Amino acid sequence: MELVTILGSTGSIGVSTLDVLAREPDCFRVFALTANTGVADMLQQVIAVRPRFAVMRCEQSAEQLRQALADNQVDETEVLAGERSLCEVAAAREVDVVMAAIVGGAGLEPTLAAVNAGKKVLLANKEALVMAGQLFMDAVEEANAVLLPIDSEHNAIFQCLDDGSRRDLPSQGVKRILLTGSGGPFRETPAEELVHVTPDQACAHPNWSMGRKISVDSATMMNKGLELIEACWLFDTPASNIDVVVHPQSIIHSMVEYIDGSVLAQLGNPDMRTPIAHALAWPERMPSGVGSLDIIAQGRLDFEAPDENRFPCLRLAREAVERGGTSAILLNAANEVAVAAFLAGELAFPAIAEVIESVMNSVAVVEPNSLDAVKLADREARAAAVAEVKRRQAENT
Ligand code: NAD
Ligand code: MG
Repeated sequence: MELVTILGSTGSIGVSTLDVLAREPDCFRVFALTANTGVADMLQQVIAVRPRFAVMRCEQSAEQLRQALADNQVDETEVLAGERSLCEVAAAREVDVVMAAIVGGAGLEPTLAAVNAGKKVLLANKEALVMAGQLFMDAVEEANAVLLPIDSEHNAIFQCLDDGSRRDLPSQGVKRILLTGSGGPFRETPAEELVHVTPDQACAHPNWSMGRKISVDSATMMNKGLELIEACWLFDTPASNIDVVVHPQSIIHSMVEYIDGSVLAQLGNPDMRTPIAHALAWPERMPSGVGSLDIIAQGRLDFEAPDENRFPCLRLAREAVERGGTSAILLNAANEVAVAAFLAGELAFPAIAEVIESVMNSVAVVEPNSLDAVKLADREARAAAVAEVKRRQAENT
């Protein structure tokens, strides 16, 4: 029996994780669930799985949840609040597995707490790795944590590599990684129309159902940019060995090419329960609830090169890798601010990339050799991005 903490349980990945866990009740039990402010969703989850702890980000939401649980005569779950509690339920001695599924930089510290405690960490929260890269991977090594990728592409790459040597790619004959992406909802939208697209259009992903932030990232292709950086860290590979391939059907989830010309791919229906079940059961397998891939009904698989002129975020992510230091932190922080502004109707879609580029060119890059340095660069970049969004708003009124 393994005890599981889900960081970000009310989100898209969190809900899928609970769905998979419920398929093997004899193997997994939920220790803690956590959420930002969604009290109603958390109430339903706590009633269903009766965890030892439920953590809300703020005390006010926690108090509402306590009241609601009392009203429903649920008394086996203790409700906690705040970031410290998020870290505590991630690192608690009893916990075996932590699903890191908070969105954005807010997930960094709880995810690192799980890593430092040597847990089996299922990483959906790509922003944490993009921000803390070297520190994060050093902590995995030092604490002997088991880091398993949930991002479908990285999970696919992981599955296409040899067991046991996933961080020494040249020695296992790997030539390059082909990171696939759907191209998002605007793959065929002409550049001049992108200025008019709305948040709801950006969040209507053709193949995947996801939270709003990652949906916008998919529409700008920043998601692929963040995933490029994520893959560099996870597989200890230079960005020059990773090619992005647009594959609109999202059936192949990524590929690995070997020096003998073999190309291995992992395929499946686009449903996050597959990588979640893979990582939960690894090195074994378990059912996920995902239906069989009907390759005949699918009929064809298409591939094309990404268009970095219409989707400059991909270029910016490569530049962040080349510049090194805190560049990826600046990229990620500015992106979070710009995406939130776009979702709030304060910024046009093409301006997301412009805000990021302006922050990357204005905030000084240093070597992030401590968590404090990471957090400082993150704060500086967010402040610069907020100022840039305001400047643009003032210009447009
Ligand atoms: P989501 O917005 O649906 O859910 C986010 C979760 O994090 C919620 O439970 C929310 O309450 C919690 N949260 C948000 N802000 C918080 C804060 N400040 N403090 C504490 N908790 C907070 O997001 P999602 O789509 O489930 O994505 C989660 C992560 O997984 C992201 O990093 C995303 O890039 C990654 N990911 C998601 C998918 C997908 O299919 N949804 C696929 C691959 C990777
Ligand atoms: Mg992905």
